[in-house]
Amino acid sequence: MEDPFDSERASLPRNMIENSMFEEEPDVVDLAKDSTAFPALEPDEVVYEPRSSRLLVRGLGENDLDDEEEDYESSARLLGMSFINRSSTHNPSSSPYNRQAPPRLCSCPSARMLVVGVFILVLVASMAMALYFLPGCTFTKAGCGKANSSTPMEPSYPNSTNGELFPWNEIRLPASVRPVNYDLSLTPNLTSMTFTGRTVINMTILHDTKRIVLHSSELIITKATFQVGEDKSVEVKVLEYKPWQQIAVSFLEDLKVGQVCVLTLDYAANLSHTYDGFYNSSYNDKTGAKRVLAATQFEPQAARKAFPCFDEPAFKATFLVRITREPGYITLSNMPQAKTTTLPSGLLEDEFEQTGVNMSTYLVAFIVANFTSITRNVSNTLVSVYSVPEKKEHTHYALDTASTLLHFYNTFFHIDYPLRKLDLVAIPDFLAGAMENWGLITFRETSLLVGNQSSPLDKQLIANVVAHELAHQWFGNLVTMRWWNDLWLNEGFATYWQYTSLMTEFPQLDLGNVFLGVRFKALAKDSLNSSHPVSVSSQVTTPEQVSEMFDSVTYEKGASLLLMLKTTLPDGQFRKGLIKYLDKYRGSNTVTEDLWNSLTQAQMLPQQESVSDMMRTWTLQNGFPLVTVSRKGGHVTLTQEHFLLSADNATHTSNLWHIPVTYVNDSCSSAPSCRQIFTLRNKTATLNVSDSVKWLKFNYMNTGFYIVHYGDEGWATLIDALKTDINTLTPHDRASLIHNIFALSRLGRVSFRQVLNLLDYATNETETAPLTEALSQLSSVYRLLDKRQEQRLVARMKVYIWGHFGQLMDSQDWGEEESVSKQELRSVLLEMACSLGRQNCTDQATALFDQWTNSNQTKPIPGDLQRVVFSTAAQSDLRWLSLMEAYSSTTYDSEKRKILQALASTQDPQSIVWILSTGLEGGIIQTQELPLVISTMSDGFAGHLLVWDFVKENWDRIIEKFPVGSYPIQSIIKSTTSQFSTQTHLEEVQGFFSNLKERGSQMRSVQEALETIRLNQLWMDRNLPTLRIWL
Ligand SMILES: [Zn+2]
Repeated sequence: MEDPFDSERASLPRNMIENSMFEEEPDVVDLAKDSTAFPALEPDEVVYEPRSSRLLVRGLGENDLDDEEEDYESSARLLGMSFINRSSTHNPSSSPYNRQAPPRLCSCPSARMLVVGVFILVLVASMAMALYFLPGCTFTKAGCGKANSSTPMEPSYPNSTNGELFPWNEIRLPASVRPVNYDLSLTPNLTSMTFTGRTVINMTILHDTKRIVLHSSELIITKATFQVGEDKSVEVKVLEYKPWQQIAVSFLEDLKVGQVCVLTLDYAANLSHTYDGFYNSSYNDKTGAKRVLAATQFEPQAARKAFPCFDEPAFKATFLVRITREPGYITLSNMPQAKTTTLPSGLLEDEFEQTGVNMSTYLVAFIVANFTSITRNVSNTLVSVYSVPEKKEHTHYALDTASTLLHFYNTFFHIDYPLRKLDLVAIPDFLAGAMENWGLITFRETSLLVGNQSSPLDKQLIANVVAHELAHQWFGNLVTMRWWNDLWLNEGFATYWQYTSLMTEFPQLDLGNVFLGVRFKALAKDSLNSSHPVSVSSQVTTPEQVSEMFDSVTYEKGASLLLMLKTTLPDGQFRKGLIKYLDKYRGSNTVTEDLWNSLTQAQMLPQQESVSDMMRTWTLQNGFPLVTVSRKGGHVTLTQEHFLLSADNATHTSNLWHIPVTYVNDSCSSAPSCRQIFTLRNKTATLNVSDSVKWLKFNYMNTGFYIVHYGDEGWATLIDALKTDINTLTPHDRASLIHNIFALSRLGRVSFRQVLNLLDYATNETETAPLTEALSQLSSVYRLLDKRQEQRLVARMKVYIWGHFGQLMDSQDWGEEESVSKQELRSVLLEMACSLGRQNCTDQATALFDQWTNSNQTKPIPGDLQRVVFSTAAQSDLRWLSLMEAYSSTTYDSEKRKILQALASTQDPQSIVWILSTGLEGGIIQTQELPLVISTMSDGFAGHLLVWDFVKENWDRIIEKFPVGSYPIQSIIKSTTSQFSTQTHLEEVQGFFSNLKERGSQMRSVQEALETIRLNQLWMDRNLPTLRIWL
């Protein structure tokens, strides 16, 4: 998936379907070590034994559970239970399953068997009830302590919805059954907003088992039948355990290894009103009429809301989809349409080809809508872009970009995209930025549609999202992480490729600067104690924990680490290793170590280090290193420590990284060939350079994921060098110095005076990357002071900014500009100038806005300047109203989003409250935009307290729309709290979230928010005196 909130700135031949996960018998020892590899019982977990006569302590794995069931059954036999025709096992033509159906479902039960069966059932039920009603005894994990105090551990099964014991007690599914193919038939009703479905699951039995457990959420199962091999199918009872969204079918005798079974489930459900599962969406067409549609969003765990399934990424299978529709609609799914049948009801049923590839459930998708499309052939794939009919003209850029990138990836990865078609679909109401469903990528309209006349900066955003989702067709869809703890294998790669592919294929889009900004962002998040390793070894099981994996560490740190590795390996070796990885694991699932092994086989690193040894230090521990440089003549000592921002200075870790330290010096400093490399594995090491070297700059182009401190002398020589000749370092190296010194100031290693000393060089700076970094750092300091109501300092800070950058701001051109880099620069400069009220800027912006409205919008505003122009205009009541009108009427999505940001930037409290409540309700302002509205308002002085109140007041409604832990919730928490810097606010935030309990108190983003406020407090304490002197 692509997260949508940082945009300002988703086949194998059938004979290759063997999934490595299923090839080998799970080893009990391995299961103990890696509980995420296979769903298995932890050593300390036990299974409820429904007889008081015998309580077993259970060990690991599925087979143990079955032993227990076996034991249960053999006891029943001893009691005279004989409801199964055992002779069938001697008949080679019949499946052993005949004897396994529950008695009530036996195809021809004799009267005697029925009587005995009923007797046994009554007996067993009585024993279970007797146990249940033992005084003080409950079916908890702790078991019935009073009755069995001598038993160290007791098993526990939860109760199903109908009160019977549910036959499984893990949130992860058992590994005993493997789905092979799903046959899905869906009949959505876009009037009643409901749907019915039939799911036929073909599966094979991997280990003897008496149960089939799978996922289902909010589905009403109306009928279930089960068939083994060629036997007659029989109706079976489905048990449901809602808290874990599981259903199960139990059998009295084992399903045997190697058996092929078919489970058929008929069900009904409502189309979802949130943004996941099979959900309904609507939009108003050009006549103003409301048009409805239905679409899906399954990642990470919502396929179970549309059809019962084994909803874990490692349970890959093939899919055949059929959807019923009314004649005015079209349907889309992962595969090309195979045929359409007219049903007696007059409805049409579209059937899609069966997938030729094995895929995870979260990648299944289908849509019923009245969309239109444009298409093009690229190699053997038909690429199409779909939108609502009135936006067809906005689809061309996406088609061009997708076609170019599909060709690029086909060639680069040495594996062709495996499907015959690739659809990119713009969905009017869609929460994520986009979703990489195989063959049917879904997007927000703002992430896919752009007018031909739109600015290159608008196109950059579209290209970014398309490049990310196309990369997923290999990294994610073809090779999938085994479990969500390694989500970075999907998202880190897709993020890395989105920049890398565009830098190669569309150099004019200037993605290098964007990628640099992304690395800075990842460093910021990873410097907190609340961060997590890229590859998470701790528990990631609950839906909230899975949702929280979709964060900046997974995406952006993941991508940054891949860049570091790529630039460390000899030319071409990174690609060679990845091709090997994709080829070896195509169609299956991987863990992080599989990637490192593929790359290690490809090449050794300098200094005989293996990729695996180096990269484990980066992916298995959180945080990143600070490298401190001290120099005595030709001896340069490098020391590493964990760069951990901590308000109490109490948390120090002994983490060490294998750091590929790169450096350049004054004699050769800007060309790539100047770069030298040294691997720092220990706490300290010494590097020898010539005495004549005047200065050293480490982390060339900031491709390494670490921060460097040069010491007082080192910083001084670098500042001198920049003041003498700004071009002695590359723009990215200059940005790197600015970033590093601000970070060190936050860590308390340099004073703010040293920060300002470095920034003095920037009066001569004209390049986008360093200026963007300087302005964004200064603006976050400015906002903190502003929110603390340090008015004198705020005024002096403005004077400081005018002094250093005012001239550059005033010299910006307001006409059309072709260079993306220049567009980025001027939008950053002007947005800051106008938001701080620089007259020259506000006058120009207002004039452009008035020209636009007076000409009835025929005199366009350059796309990159729209945000600053609209936001400036929004500060006047009259212009705010005319913007509101423009917001309702415009069909250009990128323009619409900028208008919304402008509307949200108002300082009028009543307008702020109106926008927030309208955004939460949906309609005029779509609910999907609420996180953007909230983050825009939080930056403003008037909005930041109002918006925090709004979030507190409406928390329950907000989490109905955006699930706890999801990216929108992370964004909302961060933007509303990250500018607090007082004890009062700290306590308030702490109090609010701790009272939420299961409604959000456990989120990592809450920890992050609290840490950030404490760090802001600390920063203020340390730096306010300096600022008063130096500003
Ligand atoms: Zn993604």
